Amino acid sequence: MKKDFGIIPSSKTLVRCIFCGVHLPKANRCIEQHTNGAKHKENLMLMRENAIYLLNEDLYCKPCNRIVNDNFSVPGHVETESHSNWKVAIEDLTEGEFIKLEPYLSSERDDVHCEVCNLDIDSNLHIIEKHVNSTKHRNNVVERLKPLNGLFPVENDDEVFCKICNMYIDNTTRAVLEHIDDDEEHVAWLTEIEDLIEGHDVSIEHYLANDFEVNAYCKKCKMDIICDVENIESHVHSEDHLNKFI
Ligand SMILES: [Zn+2]
Ligand SMILES: [Zn+2]
Ligand SMILES: [Zn+2]
Ligand SMILES: [Zn+2]
Ligand SMILES: [Zn+2]
Repeated sequence: MKKDFGIIPSSKTLVRCIFCGVHLPKANRCIEQHTNGAKHKENLMLMRENAIYLLNEDLYCKPCNRIVNDNFSVPGHVETESHSNWKVAIEDLTEGEFIKLEPYLSSERDDVHCEVCNLDIDSNLHIIEKHVNSTKHRNNVVERLKPLNGLFPVENDDEVFCKICNMYIDNTTRAVLEHIDDDEEHVAWLTEIEDLIEGHDVSIEHYLANDFEVNAYCKKCKMDIICDVENIESHVHSEDHLNKFI
């Protein structure tokens, strides 16, 4: 029996796929057809996104810490209120926090990983919450965001310089986050540029991370472009550039 595929014996003539919650005739051809089918593969994927795995002959959901009921299937469980509440909560908690959930969700690891603190954290929601609210984590997030946002240290450590807005900002976690998230000019500039370069293989990372860099870089044309809306717009609409996508 192909246990890894969620197929377990059910009766003399039937097997059951516990991922999909269906019965199948006990014939290799039928089983193969089922395990190669789109629905079954979808459910396998769903397991890897929800920390659900096969434990002996049962479906086990780690975040809910229980065996998923007999007549349930993977989608049946994922849609339950308790599980979907957990999923929403963990995504809300970790959004924009540089916390990697994938190894936990795919059941490769028991912990989640904080990239900015370089730390494994227990996957318990309260522990994650405590971590993301800790001063150390908040500081590390801000340090990570600065080079992604054109913010640079200045001689006087009380302030940082925003290259995009050409202004100084208090060098506190709160002031920096407020600027990055809520400053109209800052957000508008980044959004406009990001919209323009989306799908165009133009990078502004180097521009944002380096104080004296004035150019964006087109990887398709292998050339520098002055990093402002006007120049980037005319580049991504130019024939030379667009021809490289044919
Ligand atoms: Zn199946
Ligand atoms: Zn669950
Ligand atoms: Zn952290
Ligand atoms: Zn700014
Ligand atoms: Zn180009």
